[in-house]
Amino acid sequence: MLPLPRFEYSAPNDVRDASRFLAEPGSQLIAGGTDLLVSMKQRLFEPRHLVSIRRLGLRGVTVQGGVVRIGAATTLAQVATNLTVREQFPALSDACLTVATPTIQSMATLGGNLMLDTRCLYYNQPAGWRASLGYCLKREGTVCHVAPKGRGCYATQSADTVPALWLYGAEVEFQSTRGVVLRKVSDMYRDDGMAWHGVGRDEVLVAVRLPLAEARVGHRKLRTRQAIDYAQVLVAVRAPVADGPWAAVISAVASSPLFVEAEDPTALAEAAFRASQPLSTHLPAATWRKRMVRVEVARAAAALGDGR
Ligand SMILES: Cc1cc2nc3c(=O)[nH]c(=O)nc-3n(C[C@H](O)[C@H](O)[C@H](O)COP(=O)(O)OP(=O)(O)OC[C@H]3O[C@@H](n4cnc5c(N)ncnc54)[C@H](O)[C@@H]3O)c2cc1C
Ligand code: SF4
Repeated sequence: MLPLPRFEYSAPNDVRDASRFLAEPGSQLIAGGTDLLVSMKQRLFEPRHLVSIRRLGLRGVTVQGGVVRIGAATTLAQVATNLTVREQFPALSDACLTVATPTIQSMATLGGNLMLDTRCLYYNQPAGWRASLGYCLKREGTVCHVAPKGRGCYATQSADTVPALWLYGAEVEFQSTRGVVLRKVSDMYRDDGMAWHGVGRDEVLVAVRLPLAEARVGHRKLRTRQAIDYAQVLVAVRAPVADGPWAAVISAVASSPLFVEAEDPTALAEAAFRASQPLSTHLPAATWRKRMVRVEVARAAAALGDGR
């Protein structure tokens, strides 16, 4: 069993106090802890001070002025079973239910999912495993084992809820001592496995806002086992809105999700295939994962019917 490193713990009841703690070097926010505590045991993160979200009052789903607002500390199980979410955003509900297992879904939060670190076969391992390879560029090493001649880290964005939230047009509310900032999910992620978001270290993700529109979105996750496993390919597809194009977001194949549009489902699947350039960040062959992007986009589009 891997022991946790020592840390201090605070549970403030005001977001500005949490933000002040987080501004101090060595502090990190903890929500459900389902990823962070595992990563701490693997010595991927070694915060000296954990600042908890649990007393910040960020749990629950409300509807106001044509917008559904989901508090960051709402668990994936609560999001998935919320009636408004199930009726208006079924692909988000489906995506929550593909994360890990029901026990983890009842601890894991939506905010924690959006802030999930990028993943790689050579990174998400215990410290001893990584040490035997001399670590890697993303943490403690100097070489990328996936692309030794590459220009950086290619760890993949693998959070299950992101593709569906992107296509529903979600925005994310961050709060710090400087005030509130809104970011579109579609603008949040960067194509860099190490610096994969531009969020300040003292910013707390407080809520996700979803416009009540008529978007029809489907979600698919390719993985070896139908529980526990992270995605090898993650896909969301949106049927045309009015006379617009079909749209897809493909994830788990690059450090940021990829967005493609096309006139019909066949062209969409082809565009997704061409845009995806997975590397050996996962056990299954990258060439197979690339081909499966086309298959999964076609399946998601077929499940939405003709889109009209
Ligand atoms: C066995 C196993 C399988 C898993 N499978 C999947 C999977 O298939 N798909 C998937 O997407 N995830 C998976 N996870 C990861 C994890 O359970 C989920 O991503 C979960 O939603 C993370 O939420 P959390 O509240 O537990 O976050 P935490 O672990 O508490 O935090 C995760 C990260 O987000 C930051 N953070 C959390 N909340 C906020 C906030 N409000 N504002 C700013 N930063 C914040 C933390 O500082 C930390 O860096 C798995 C985990 C395990 C243990
Ligand atoms: S892509 Fe390379 S640098 Fe990034 S985590 Fe994997 S092995 Fe490390």
